[in-house]
Amino acid sequence: MPQYNPPLRDMQFVMHEVLKVTDEFKALPKHADVDADTINAVLEEAGKFAAEVTFPLNISGDTEGCKLDQATHEVTPPKGFKEAYAKYVEGGWAALSCDPEYGGQGLPFVVNQCVYEMLNSANQAWTMYPGLSHGAYEALHAHGTDAQKKLYLPKLVSGEWTGTMCLTEPHCGTDLGLLRTKAEPQADGTYKLTGNKIFISAGEHDMTENILHLVLARLPDAPQGSKGISLFLVPKFNVGEDGAIGSRNGIYCGSLEHKMGIHGNATAQIVLEGAVGTMVGAPNKGLAAMFVMMNAARLGVGNQSLGLTEVAYQNALAYAKDRIQMRSLSGVKAKDKPADPIIVHPDVRKMLLTAKAYAEGGRALAIYCTMLLDKELHHPDEKVRKDSGEIVALLTPIVKAFLTDNGHISTNACMQVFGGHGFIKEWGMEQFVRDNRINMIYEGTNTIQSLDLLGRKVLGNNGATLKKFGKIIGALIAEEGVNEKMAEFINPLAYLADQMTKFTTELGFKGFQNPDEVGAAAVDYLRVAGHLVFGYFWARMAQTALREIAAGNADSFYLAKVQTARFYFAKLFPETATLMRTARSGSKALMDTDAALA
Ligand SMILES: Cc1cc2nc3c(=O)[nH]c(=O)nc-3n(C[C@H](O)[C@H](O)[C@H](O)COP(=O)(O)OP(=O)(O)OC[C@H]3O[C@@H](n4cnc5c(N)ncnc54)[C@H](O)[C@@H]3O)c2cc1C
Repeated sequence: MPQYNPPLRDMQFVMHEVLKVTDEFKALPKHADVDADTINAVLEEAGKFAAEVTFPLNISGDTEGCKLDQATHEVTPPKGFKEAYAKYVEGGWAALSCDPEYGGQGLPFVVNQCVYEMLNSANQAWTMYPGLSHGAYEALHAHGTDAQKKLYLPKLVSGEWTGTMCLTEPHCGTDLGLLRTKAEPQADGTYKLTGNKIFISAGEHDMTENILHLVLARLPDAPQGSKGISLFLVPKFNVGEDGAIGSRNGIYCGSLEHKMGIHGNATAQIVLEGAVGTMVGAPNKGLAAMFVMMNAARLGVGNQSLGLTEVAYQNALAYAKDRIQMRSLSGVKAKDKPADPIIVHPDVRKMLLTAKAYAEGGRALAIYCTMLLDKELHHPDEKVRKDSGEIVALLTPIVKAFLTDNGHISTNACMQVFGGHGFIKEWGMEQFVRDNRINMIYEGTNTIQSLDLLGRKVLGNNGATLKKFGKIIGALIAEEGVNEKMAEFINPLAYLADQMTKFTTELGFKGFQNPDEVGAAAVDYLRVAGHLVFGYFWARMAQTALREIAAGNADSFYLAKVQTARFYFAKLFPETATLMRTARSGSKALMDTDAALA
């Protein structure tokens, strides 16, 4: 059976020693009083919840899956899910970083980020029920009318009701401009929705008394394409003005998908038959309103893979210390045993360190992004708010795609550490691989993320935001450029940062002449950008650790950090050279292939 220990020490290192989040919060009136002790205490309790309440349900949830009663359209999630959710609500976890005006606790997003990382490590399928609700809360909070907010937000904040996002239809996933679900205006100001949605996560369950579906649909006179999409709130049970639950609405689960992983989460086909809804945001501006939820979800999906990378690493490390096979190439290490533990073998160490470097680098990036979200919302200086928002927008596709691709690499590597046993269900490792796989697909596939990064976020503004982030990297390079101890980290980072400008300009120029050049280079480009960002955070983590060591701190945590940074720069970061080369090789080898693909 797999184990899970919440990585509290590493979270504290990133938050308090590297990013110094509470110093940053002092400039935000809303969070000025939040101190490290409060954050640590909340995370310790959250870690217990993840390890003791939801983690024990991970394998059983995977085995059991969700069940649909075709007669009633009700879905029963795996045993224990409902009770765990009740404890989550009782503990006030849903309200953590929500607006106090609606019953929230108003803590910074940084705290929520770490809580969710642990919940994802423990049980991604379960965590998607509250995770989707939080996205719905954010969309409604940003775009709902006062009446909608008053009626629905307190229920989402307390966790008494959950939320979903209903975008995908059988014929359209990436291209939402094709969607067909109709919304007919009614005399009383409501709308009647008719259509079919598929793949709706947490789309039906009995864990709460009501479910709030956020549904994209078209008004009768809507323009074609993505400019004609509106957003509607459609509750499972209609809700009276006093908040009381009323009649069953015409929205129900027609079927459940049978899938590769996340079996404990109900992926529902949702049928709308004259379901009553109210509009969220302006007519035909639904996609913009939904983007609030989609952006939150993109960061959330990256966080899912971060969680899985961490838990897979912990288990592979324990196994590699215990499992004995063959002797070390450089001489016997465990004289008292008939063979050495497999952790002595260089390639086993490489697999372990790959997962460790991706987990810890991903954690630093994810916490940094949520710190910027806190600044974007609450900093008194408008310029800081604007800059923070722009950098989060730039980093969002990287968090979504780079962390989930790294999750794929890492969970596979960790499964490999187990040899044949990794392929056997009872060890839990193959579940991490299966559960992670969807993270590269939903919320906009990783290809779409790379087009968003290169096409919109970088070339779309002539590299202005990339330059802003480049300045942040430049400041670190200037600070540490003459420090010999940092040279092994700073030199490759400075080299890539310098290359990046030329590389981007080159792709922009080629893309201007032939847009397929952007499509051909984007996935490689995102991975290079991901390493640039990880390189920056690994250098900062090494800097903090080296300073502690120089000051005489003998805690092996810091030496471990430096060693992992060294591994990262020596073994993972250099793939950027190949990626730049393949990106530069252009679109011809892909597009001039009609005979090959005939
Ligand atoms: C388990 C699960 C849970 C999900 N949860 C939800 C949910 O809660 N709510 C919801 O609304 N949806 C959900 N989805 C749907 C998910 O977001 C979509 O599957 C995803 O966006 C891709 O859409 P698609 O499946 O239609 O693939 P398609 O859009 O048909 O894409 C097929 C392939 O073509 C590629 N492609 C498409 N267009 C381009 C392009 N312009 N350039 C390059 N490549 C392109 C894609 O990257 C992909 O590889 C879920 C899906 C699954 C499987």
